[in-house]
Amino acid sequence: MNKRKFLKQSVWISAGAYIVPSVFLSSCKSEPKKEENMKTDTLAKSAFELPEIPYGYNAFPETIDPMTMEIHHTKHHQGYTDKLNAALKEANISGKTIEEILSMDDLPTAIRNNGGGYYNHSLYWDILTPGGTMSTTLKSKITEDFGSEEAFLNELTDAALNRFGSGWAWVVQDRNKKLDIFSTPNQDNPLMKMTEMEGHPILGIDVWEHAYYLKYQNKRADYLKNIIDIINWEKVEARMI
Ligand code: MN
Repeated sequence: MNKRKFLKQSVWISAGAYIVPSVFLSSCKSEPKKEENMKTDTLAKSAFELPEIPYGYNAFPETIDPMTMEIHHTKHHQGYTDKLNAALKEANISGKTIEEILSMDDLPTAIRNNGGGYYNHSLYWDILTPGGTMSTTLKSKITEDFGSEEAFLNELTDAALNRFGSGWAWVVQDRNKKLDIFSTPNQDNPLMKMTEMEGHPILGIDVWEHAYYLKYQNKRADYLKNIIDIINWEKVEARMI
């Protein structure tokens, strides 16, 4: 194999890493529909897949170093995704959206932890960007509900800073569509019935040490200050209902 061919193949393999499930699905579709294939097909379709992050691991090295981002995505987020799929199979749950699953009554612990991990990280990657600004519409909504943009950001920072141990800080819309801020432990989130407060999540900040320890060590406040600068406010606003 010459070098160019090798490189081309390596790139293809690496680009294909996240589309393996779809490749698997399409290969299933072309197989004759024997009973065994039908079973595999149904299983593959009901499984959640690790979402691609909408930028590279080196998108904002001053805020999140590439190694942290890669490990966080390919190990932690992938791990939650795989364990969620295993737990759903075990509980014989299929054909539901992740939102429907997380808002179920009596959520089994494995689905609570891994389904939360799957959903929370998908949201986290989606609402970051190398440079985002708030629209006037979002600014006025924030001012209406918190008094000022500064008060809103202070409350968000405090929620994230004061979460003891591992967890998440959230901005949600309550049932009256008012914006609210709180934090949850572990991989819990505002869709779950057992959380202290429920709501529709529009922004989530991961405050597990795995999200920042390589670059910031114990300095969670520094991580928070920087991460707030890379929030994709357009995406946050688009999630509002
Ligand atoms: Mn995490």
